[in-house]
Amino acid sequence: MKMSNMLVLTMKEVPAEAEISSHQLMLRAGMMRKMASGIYNYMPLGLKVLKKVEDIVREEMNNTGAQEFLASAMIPGELWQESGRWDAYGAEMFRVKDRNDRDFCLGPTHEEVFTDIARNEIKSYKQLPINLYQIQTKYRDERRPRFGVMRSREFVMKDAYSFDKDQEGLDISYNKMHDAYVRIFNRCGLDAKPVEADSGAIGGSNSAEFMVKSEVGEDDVVFCTCCDYAANIEKAVSTPEISQEETKKDLGEVETPNARTIEELVKFFNTTEKKFAKTLIFNADGKIVAVMVRGDREVNETKVANALGGVNNLQMATEAEVKKATSAAIGFAGPIGINVDTLLVDNEVANMYNFIVGANKTGYHYENVNYGRDFKGTLGDFRNITEGEKCPKCGGEVTIARGTEVGHIFKLGTKYSEAMNANFIDENGQSKPFIMGCYGIGVTRTVASIIEQNHDENGIVWPLAVAPYEVSVIPVNSKDEEQMKVAEEIYAQLKVLGVDVIMDDRKERAGVKFKDSDLMGIPMRITVGKKIAEGQVEFKLRNAEDTETINIADVYNRVK
Ligand code: ATP
Ligand code: MG
Ligand code: MG
Ligand code: MG
Repeated sequence: MKMSNMLVLTMKEVPAEAEISSHQLMLRAGMMRKMASGIYNYMPLGLKVLKKVEDIVREEMNNTGAQEFLASAMIPGELWQESGRWDAYGAEMFRVKDRNDRDFCLGPTHEEVFTDIARNEIKSYKQLPINLYQIQTKYRDERRPRFGVMRSREFVMKDAYSFDKDQEGLDISYNKMHDAYVRIFNRCGLDAKPVEADSGAIGGSNSAEFMVKSEVGEDDVVFCTCCDYAANIEKAVSTPEISQEETKKDLGEVETPNARTIEELVKFFNTTEKKFAKTLIFNADGKIVAVMVRGDREVNETKVANALGGVNNLQMATEAEVKKATSAAIGFAGPIGINVDTLLVDNEVANMYNFIVGANKTGYHYENVNYGRDFKGTLGDFRNITEGEKCPKCGGEVTIARGTEVGHIFKLGTKYSEAMNANFIDENGQSKPFIMGCYGIGVTRTVASIIEQNHDENGIVWPLAVAPYEVSVIPVNSKDEEQMKVAEEIYAQLKVLGVDVIMDDRKERAGVKFKDSDLMGIPMRITVGKKIAEGQVEFKLRNAEDTETINIADVYNRVK
């Protein structure tokens, strides 16, 4: 590609709307442009990177024996009715109607679709195992789209679905995906670690998220400082300080038909409305004094009430009351947006208050929720781990860091196959539900995360494997015929040799060209200037300080 033919979209200014480096740089380098909140158009430079990441994903998926499909992004509502998720998915789903008033959605994920494909096309155990994947645009009406394509409303995902005849088969399929994910992120130059993740209602150690440590991440990840233990805080459970025995004595005195056990409550928070409420705050008696919700999570009164199995005659608490109740608490469970230390205060104050449930957001709280009447149970098992506590694996000390989820692998079991009647005939002629797994990678989020990890003050520093171009050839003076001739020759030769090369033949000052090349993050730069008189050009690596002078004849060896 020659830059004189390109629509060059680089910009000097840092766009006001972009808060984090990757978002700023994707705009400044001209990789993408915003069309609406959380919706972006990919410009040629961004598309090139996206395709390179997709190709790595595709190659590694194919190597595991998975087969590429492409399902429709538009999905009939009936499939979601069958699985029970049409209602459960909530406001995050983009819903549309056709001219006959039939329900459809723009797929946020495709478990239902691939379960449907399997039940129609796979009849016998002899056809198993099968793993089907696609690389496709997904739609989620995120409550708070932010950070560019890190959390957008339209994004590219690779999603794979495995179908096995038994649990052992699923274990193998799952492990294959796990290993493929490790290779994919390695090849992308991204430091992403698998961490134990919450598998909600399905239970067991059945889910792992691939996390990139990052200050701009939206998840909290627990790491052990002594061993390799790592888990999403939603999953990490501490050794309870308040024993179940202690809390049990508070139980069951007041029965109510609506009461949910804390186990159910925690499950609810973990699964159906995973993103909405997670922090239980309890006092010295092991009573919950508050249920906190992270501020950026979708939450409303009805949901909180539903979570508790119906809460009657409650009033919204004032902010001050909420503060008082939470500052009175002595323990908590779940990721929190508040300082742990501030919770370690007076029990007396705590006892003056009944429970408060809601979000850490003005106007989203109920007061006087009654433990026992409105919900009941024990909490010992469900307390999430906190900074400095003992590692559940080795007893060492844990630390908590922010992370971005770039991938998620999950053993589904028969959750969807049972709900949707997706069966095969086994060795004994019996009909059995498929044992399923699902495996996602946020491709566009991966691109942003690579930039987040690989940039400096001058721009992006692409790892070679995903760089939009590997080499930029820059004639210092585009009006100098000799320089242009040599640059053209180097450009043409590298192209013939299969190098992804770009030549900046624009009639711009050399400084402008260097700046753009650095901003776009091209890993290698060949500068064609006055030294051609001695048969030499300058060679510079994007992530090196120094420029080397090399013979023109050595360019190819240096590049490869
Ligand atoms: P998050 O916790 O960040 O909301 P998720 O758990 O809802 O993500 P999954 O349903 O597990 O996401 O989807 C698989 C992958 O798709 C995620 O690991 C992530 O990389 C990517 N992804 C999910 N939501 C978005 C989004 N709004 N924008 C970009 N990528 C996303
Ligand atoms: Mg999500
Ligand atoms: Mg998640
Ligand atoms: Mg996930």
